[in-house]
Amino acid sequence: MSTPSIAFIGAGNMAFSIIGGLIKQGVDPKKVWATNIDQESLNKLEQEFQVNTTTDNHQAISEADVVVLSVKPQVLKSVVTDLAETLKQNNPLIISIAAGIKAETLQDWIGQPLAIVRCMPNTPALLQCGASGLYKTAEVTDEQANVAETLMNAVGITLWVQNEQGIDAVTAVSGSGPAYYFLFMEAMQQAGEALGLDAETAKQLTLQTALGAARMAIESDDAPSELRRKVTSPGGTTEQAIQTFQKGNLEALVKQAMQAASDRSEELS
Ligand code: NAD
Repeated sequence: MSTPSIAFIGAGNMAFSIIGGLIKQGVDPKKVWATNIDQESLNKLEQEFQVNTTTDNHQAISEADVVVLSVKPQVLKSVVTDLAETLKQNNPLIISIAAGIKAETLQDWIGQPLAIVRCMPNTPALLQCGASGLYKTAEVTDEQANVAETLMNAVGITLWVQNEQGIDAVTAVSGSGPAYYFLFMEAMQQAGEALGLDAETAKQLTLQTALGAARMAIESDDAPSELRRKVTSPGGTTEQAIQTFQKGNLEALVKQAMQAASDRSEELS
């Protein structure tokens, strides 16, 4: 499968980002199909990336090597059952980014155990800075796994999990994770204001600090715990803050919050 033909079924926000990433990486737009029930979204995609567009899901998948299911979970069943016969005939790699729908459920809807990769992306994918967790069924060949990985690498980093439960953990870490950092940013900005800074100054200092800390953690050879130790001088200001977080049992709270997210992800699928 040298240059696979890829069809995005339900090309909304997430698909727009992935398609954008693929085109930036030099994928031939003629190899990409995008569908939507909304013609305006398709016009935007066509203008921006010159990909093939259609409101007909059947037309889009007719010659696809890879079918990316990117509709919302609540409409996935009707979309998949409608396409089941063509999918069985053509046997493409199916990549589902729909949250909470198990690979086996998809295979049941199709009526055959086709090759399925389940993917949990996150919203920074919109900036090609995402983190995606991938799970593959036994039917997925090594070549298809590479295709799925390359596809999602267009919007950030990708990591495989060995069993499907791993997707619940990925959801709790990176899927929902951006919101945890946003919450922390909100709290830091508010606290900065309470200390007398104006809102804009508190916001800019908070956001740039988050970016700087993330870049240091990514680019440094030191683990985050070591980086933290290095900026925490004994008896200093940072130590006072860290001790306050620890007294409030921040680590236990984070663990509890992420367990709750994982449990909810499992419950939904
Ligand atoms: P979206 O609503 O922007 O995109 C879905 C698109 O599907 C819409 O534009 C809609 O018009 C179209 N659509 C609806 N019915 C259709 C049909 N029958 N045929 C063709 N198109 C149809 O949603 P999104 O934010 O891009 O999310 C897409 C998927 O990604 C969801 O399943 C979601 O669970 C998953 N996901 C999203 C995120 C996220 O952060 N946005 C994170 C992880 C997973």
